[in-house]
Amino acid sequence: MSEARLKGCPEWRVMLHGFVDGEFDPAHASQFKDHLATCPGCRTAMEEVRVERTVMNQDNVKWRPPQVLRAQVLSMHVFEQRQQQKPGWRRALGLK
Ligand SMILES: [Zn+2]
Repeated sequence: MSEARLKGCPEWRVMLHGFVDGEFDPAHASQFKDHLATCPGCRTAMEEVRVERTVMNQDNVKWRPPQVLRAQVLSMHVFEQRQQQKPGWRRALGLK
């Protein structure tokens, strides 16, 4: 029983990931910080989540696509935007 308590409160544990990701609005974030200040179990659990995130971020760096691929993706994105804009300016110029 006491062991589960040390790993953080279940009701807060599910929210840890959102907090670490910065998805909380300020009101919930400060509520959560207040709880962390009084609950060593949740602090420990949050540190675990933070370490997990750090490891995942390092993996992402390894898998970053090469510069050429990045340029291709960017130019495709610009092309898509132009395609989307086209009907708008055609209409604005009175073209059908
Ligand atoms: Zn707690």
